[in-house]
Amino acid sequence: MYDCIIIGKGPAGISTAIYISRSNLKCLVVGKDETALKKAKSIENYYGFESPISGEELFRRGINQAKNQNIEIKNDEVLDIEYLNNSYLVKTVNNEYETKTVVLATGKNRKMSNILGEDKFIGKGISYCAICDGYFFKNKNIAVIGSGEYAIHEAGILQNVSDKVTIFTNGGKLPENRSIEIKNVIEGRIDAIRGDKKVENILLNDKRSIPVDGVFIAQGIASSIDFAKKLGIILENNNIVINDNMETNVPGIYAAGDCTGGLLQISKAIYEGAKCGLSIAKKLKNI
Ligand SMILES: Cc1cc2nc3c(=O)[nH]c(=O)nc-3n(C[C@H](O)[C@H](O)[C@H](O)COP(=O)(O)OP(=O)(O)OC[C@H]3O[C@@H](n4cnc5c(N)ncnc54)[C@H](O)[C@@H]3O)c2cc1C
Repeated sequence: MYDCIIIGKGPAGISTAIYISRSNLKCLVVGKDETALKKAKSIENYYGFESPISGEELFRRGINQAKNQNIEIKNDEVLDIEYLNNSYLVKTVNNEYETKTVVLATGKNRKMSNILGEDKFIGKGISYCAICDGYFFKNKNIAVIGSGEYAIHEAGILQNVSDKVTIFTNGGKLPENRSIEIKNVIEGRIDAIRGDKKVENILLNDKRSIPVDGVFIAQGIASSIDFAKKLGIILENNNIVINDNMETNVPGIYAAGDCTGGLLQISKAIYEGAKCGLSIAKKLKNI
């Protein structure tokens, strides 16, 4: 049992871990190498660097700093967070971990499929959360759009409500070794999601039109928004709402960094990480 699992190893996640581990609590950071930070070619506005530093270099230094402080870091993708009795189960591609608290430090959600028709049908057949909306499509034709582990995970949930679930990879390739058997896969590129008042079909680039009743967008990896929707965390303009202690409205779930909105800068991510780490330490140690 961990005291805290931090999802994300960008500035917010690593900063949270440094403050928590100094309070002698058992924490784990689970994250991928893809972060907003690594996209920054040249950073000139961060305190203490006389000449510009690249995001890639700053990221490398942050990870090494945490490792030097014996912080446990796993390079893995989180697929789901489930509530247990007074604790949480964090499910990743490779493992499952139990923890008292979770910190969402997953960065900014920049995920939209950008497929023609997506905007028009949100809430009219298009969903982003299998566990929340899957039941509306019981025994119906369900499409999952995506080509990674997260799409497979969402399709697995939907296969419990219908045996007519198809993953549309939109030109991508699904991973070969799959933990869940997926019966129907269509690999062609998608031109549009179409319908009149609600979703009716998916038009492929090869001009085939595949009838569907529901479409679940599960591109890339699960974001803070996906986790928030599953856990009932309040969002405002797609940002996680937190209180002054970095807590969400769901007990034991905290958030820090770009995913809480506001100033999307390294300094703010680090400030929130520090605040979040101290707040969790205070709570768990009853200080
Ligand atoms: C092009 C560009 C230039 C920028 N330039 C500057 C600048 O000059 N100065 C500045 O201050 N800021 C700059 N920024 C912004 C800065 O990079 C961000 O504000 C900062 O990185 C936010 O930190 P974060 O920890 O919240 O998120 P991120 O750095 O995005 O880290 C998010 C972490 O969460 C992980 N993650 C997400 N989902 C999952 C999942 N399901 N499972 C596991 N891990 C997951 C990611 O892999 C990553 O490790 C720039 C951003 C960009 C894109």
